This record gives sequence, C-alpha cells and structure tokens, in this order.
Amino acid sequence: MLCGGSLLDDEVAWCAVCDGALPRYLGESATRFDGRLSWDVSWVLLRHRGAPGVDRLLKAFKYGGEAQVAVEVGRAMARAMAPGSTSSGVLASPALVPVPLHTEKLKSRGYNQAERIAQGCSDITGWPVLELLVRERHGEALAKEDRRGRMASRGLEYRPAPKAQNVLQISSSGAGPPTILLLIDDVLTSGATMESAWSASREFWHGPLGYACAASP
Ligand SMILES: [Zn+2]
Repeated sequence: MLCGGSLLDDEVAWCAVCDGALPRYLGESATRFDGRLSWDVSWVLLRHRGAPGVDRLLKAFKYGGEAQVAVEVGRAMARAMAPGSTSSGVLASPALVPVPLHTEKLKSRGYNQAERIAQGCSDITGWPVLELLVRERHGEALAKEDRRGRMASRGLEYRPAPKAQNVLQISSSGAGPPTILLLIDDVLTSGATMESAWSASREFWHGPLGYACAASP
C-alpha cells in the first residue's frame, strides 16, 4: 500500500522495501512524562515526524477505514518487540490492553485501531488482549471530581472496565498472572492519553506496567 508495487505472499500490507524505509523510533519516549510516571516498558516502533510513509500507514487505519493495516502494524510491532528484547525480561508473559476510543469515533470508524493493533500483536505472540479500560463518561468524570479532584482536574479520560479485576483473575487461571500490562495505542504524542491510561490501570493493577505504541513524532 505504500509504493503501490505488488506484494510477495508474506507481505500483507506493504512491501519489504517500503518496510526498510520506515524510520524506527530510536529515542526514549518515556522522557515526555518528565519522570512523573514509572514505566517498566516504554516502546515505540516508528518515528512519524517527517516520514510520509508512516503518515500514510496511520491515516489508512485512522481515516481510511483500513482496519487490516492496523493489524499488520501490530504484527510488525510484535516481530520487533519479541520476548527478551527488553533488558528487564519483563515481556515474558504480558497482557495487551488497548487504549479505548471515543464512543463517537468508534461509531464512525467502526473499530478501535488500538484494539486492532493489539490483535495483530497477539496474532504473532499469543499474548492475550484484555479490554481492561473504558472511557470515562462525562457525567462520571464530574462526579469523580468531587471525590478526587486532582485526578479529574488533570483530565482523567479512562476508568477500569467494570470487571477489570475479575478479567485479570480469569485470564491468569492456569497460565499464571501476566508479568506486565502493556498498554497499546497507535500514536504517542503529548503523552496525556497514556498518562490517563496509567492512572486508570493503577486502580486495579500494581504490577509492572508499560506501553507499546505504533508511532511517535
Ligand atoms: Zn513498497
């Protein structure tokens, strides 16, 4: 889909030549949180500033309705992020937690690209995708502001899914609990979204917590 050339059997969305031309994200993305949050994994696949190819991939699944491109991006992330690729070894047995999408956007787009990315990542790794976060509805955010003004005033966007704790227990039966929750999103920009997802996750999970995003400026 990038150069328009024909694809080999194992190339589903873009060719190996175009893949080689996509700039990898090499910096430390966690610096944008100014040390406020502790991340056990902070991982980004692609740098999209000044990279038209990466922009086209992102636009294809954000605005072009090409959900399969998001799945393929997730698969590319998984291949690059294989277990052992972090020094801590914390990626032994993660659970993938997609960052939720606005309900209105979900309606118009028909899918949450973060969920599709997580699914692609899971296709390769077998790591479970757990929808543990939901969007805070506006009225609830206001109600919460009375109780915990600090979090709400910083723009708390997410809250735990009603059965987040149960889901974690069920998913861990037999296989043991996840070694880490890995928040999955398409783009990491200011970090505000990820910060909000971090806060919501910390309401039910006190183990290692990280994120993996497809791209960042
Ligand atoms: Zn190509």
